[in-house]
Amino acid sequence: MTRLLDGKLALVTGGTRGIGHAIAARLLAEGARVVVTGTREGGRGPEGSEYRTADFAQPCALRAFADDAAALGVDILVNNAGINKIAPFAEIDPADFLKIQQVNVTAPFLLARAVLPGMVARGWGRIITIASIWSVISKARRGAYSAAKFAVDGMTAALAAEVASSGVLANCVSPGFIDTELTRTVLGEAAMQDLAAQVPLGRFGRPEEVAALVAWLAGPENTYLSGQNIVIDGGFTRV
Ligand code: NAP
Repeated sequence: MTRLLDGKLALVTGGTRGIGHAIAARLLAEGARVVVTGTREGGRGPEGSEYRTADFAQPCALRAFADDAAALGVDILVNNAGINKIAPFAEIDPADFLKIQQVNVTAPFLLARAVLPGMVARGWGRIITIASIWSVISKARRGAYSAAKFAVDGMTAALAAEVASSGVLANCVSPGFIDTELTRTVLGEAAMQDLAAQVPLGRFGRPEEVAALVAWLAGPENTYLSGQNIVIDGGFTRV
């Protein structure tokens, strides 16, 4: 049976857990060969994926990985790896600010640059960057994170304009509150219930729901959607 992404190579950064893991699993199920990254030696993505170690917070490691990625023949790049540190504006450590930009903005920038020549040469490519609702709205203590997430939206719009005529479509996907292990650990049950009550759908999203959207954007049915920042948040940012 032919599957939607047979013959495609997908690179999913941060594919060891959470949203990235679900995206990698979904792209595998659609028939893609999937390479995932994580920061730890010996880490792993979903069954059937290939694993590469790269800590994007280390500029040399990021550049070396981008050079490797250029040679992989990537058809679908999913810039998912991201970090966050919540702090009052006056207390944001400049080193943390730069690290958040390095992982959340510089890595997607360098990886997109690395894979683009191959995509353009083949006349087909998909670049999907996982932003956040904090790329379209913000709130207190999100100064560093929103700076990064608004940035990838702008970068994606410019990139999409440049490469659309070469068959490369670039979009952001912006999740709201997603039920991951990390979310559970950071927020705890009580805060999660409180937040869920503020979402029109009345619950957190599941990583698989984000993955389904990414798979559609990456797949052959998407022929005309580019340069967008698609919010998947159960309606949260519209109320
Ligand atoms: P997560 O569970 O914390 O997983 C993060 C992934 O990124 C892991 O695979 C991790 O690798 C990798 N990573 C962490 N630091 C890295 C670094 N310095 N260099 C390279 N890779 C690194 O994250 P998540 O919650 O699924 O979030 C995934 C993306 O969605 C992020 O861009 C995040 O901003 C965005 N997002 C998440 C939510 C949410 O509710 N969870 C909502 C909106 C947007 P290791 O496992 O090896 O550490």
